Amino acid sequence: MEDKITLAAHGKINLGLDVVRRLENGYHEVRMVMQSVELADTVTLKRLPEDRILVRTDRRGLPCNEKNLAFKAAGLMKEIYSLGDGVEIFLEKRIPIAAGMAGGSADCAAVLKGMNILFGLGLSLEELQREGVKLGADVPYCLSRGCALSEGIGEKLTVLKAPPSCVLLLAKPDISVSTKYVYENLKLKELEHHPDIDGIVRSIEAGSLEGLCGKLENVLESVTGREYPVIGEIEREMEEAGALRAIMSGSGPTVFGIFREREAAKRAMKGIREKNLAKEVFLSGFQTY
Ligand code: ATP
Repeated sequence: MEDKITLAAHGKINLGLDVVRRLENGYHEVRMVMQSVELADTVTLKRLPEDRILVRTDRRGLPCNEKNLAFKAAGLMKEIYSLGDGVEIFLEKRIPIAAGMAGGSADCAAVLKGMNILFGLGLSLEELQREGVKLGADVPYCLSRGCALSEGIGEKLTVLKAPPSCVLLLAKPDISVSTKYVYENLKLKELEHHPDIDGIVRSIEAGSLEGLCGKLENVLESVTGREYPVIGEIEREMEEAGALRAIMSGSGPTVFGIFREREAAKRAMKGIREKNLAKEVFLSGFQTY
């Protein structure tokens, strides 16, 4: 058996995000359409002949201790399957951090998958997802990826067909947004309008990129977008350059724009950089199998 494995941990965007209600345990019931993107971290795992978890990364400032979701994933697998050996994990980060792109959950999912293989555990996707949700609501989705409707707290997943391909521009402005703050400041009762999640699903099933772009919406933008006008400025820059639509992903602050033409996306990228709206800007696409 191999003692080393390298996996791609893809980031995600939300083509739609609605919050249904606040639950008593502090979580929120959500309805989200998730789509994985080509932009990915590279996660390398190496089996160690000693009882130890070692995490290293090329991203300055990212904790490598038990606060890191990759560390937590390895700890959980060692505990439930009583693994005596350890693992060394290297995270080559590309997904922006605390960005609304589930970078931490993606790394976590890659470690669960990688350890399943490295230690020959033979766990099914569903078994990994059942364990993964203990570490984060987005982890079950990050294990299966592609396009999916995510409900409950994120654990109820329905696989959707891949939306039509497009050019995707991702831009993360240089601000920090706390997911907890965004959810706590969402005035659910005052909302007069909710994203049309079922309409988004129907447009995907119909294979219409224009139809889909007409419906993209994220309820959390009412909080993050109000606080940080740069989010709206990036969206305008993308749409003026030719994006069919641009909205915020997750709790933000990353904005994504959907383009038909690579040239238009490049124009938007140049404009965003020149106006200093965001430093972390990536040309990407939907990740499909
Ligand atoms: P989500 O979209 O699920 O809210 P996010 O993209 O907003 O996720 P992450 O990049 O996952 O946020 O990071 C959120 C926090 O988790 C950061 O403060 C970071 O320090 C911590 N974290 C722990 N492990 C990781 C990891 N492997 N990669 C990135 N962040 C991590």
